[in-house]
Amino acid sequence: MPAAILFTDLDGTLLDHHTYEPATEAVERLRRAGVPIVFCSAKTIAEQRALADDLGLRPGMIAENGAVVELPAELCGTPVSHTFGLPRREVRRTIAQVAAELGGSVVGYGDLTPSEVATVTGLDVDAARRAMDRACTETIVDLDGVDPELLARGLEGRGLRLQRGARFWTVQGDHDKGRAVRWVLDRFRTDDLTSYAVGDAPNDREMLEAVERPMLVRRPDGTWAELGIPAVRRLPGIGPSGFTQAVDVILEEGS
Ligand SMILES: [Mg+2]
Repeated sequence: MPAAILFTDLDGTLLDHHTYEPATEAVERLRRAGVPIVFCSAKTIAEQRALADDLGLRPGMIAENGAVVELPAELCGTPVSHTFGLPRREVRRTIAQVAAELGGSVVGYGDLTPSEVATVTGLDVDAARRAMDRACTETIVDLDGVDPELLARGLEGRGLRLQRGARFWTVQGDHDKGRAVRWVLDRFRTDDLTSYAVGDAPNDREMLEAVERPMLVRRPDGTWAELGIPAVRRLPGIGPSGFTQAVDVILEEGS
């Protein structure tokens, strides 16, 4: 049984916001100390697994913004998976219905080939395939003139949320990172485990609220996200350098 567990956001936290370089050395120190890491991001399981392979790590994974949880045998004795989201087929069907009612037909990853997704995202084709390998959420790349507010309202009436990303929109069901984090922590049922989380952005709020020791790294503009979480520890480093400081905190407190 580990003494601590770390839930971490990926983009802008473990990974550099611009270069996507990971905080490799800090991950390795945590691994050697026997502190398990659980990835917790909007990325898909396939994307998280590729990163884990690059790092030589077998982390827990909370993917698609809390829709899917996969825990390795190393963490729980036996591999565990759980889904909080709706099947993506259903999500896509509802998007198409609402868009049609608004007189349009939006374009999602599911309507495109991997090379088309590669073109609109700038990813290579393999990375595009991993980004498209979604279980419970859909990425919309073109609204085809449909008003995003009307689309959001229509989707909300059917239990789905439309979220604006940096370039595209994501449609998801009623799930978030926090519920998935609590579900993982419930599996340990012990007072001897200290839970940590580190993130950089408003979509990390629920994850940070779900742990005992929440931490925020700085964003590239030098600011911390304003989340109104009183106990949050603001780390001075930006992105992966802040992640490295989070690991310092855990190893200092835990040893
Ligand atoms: Mg982030």
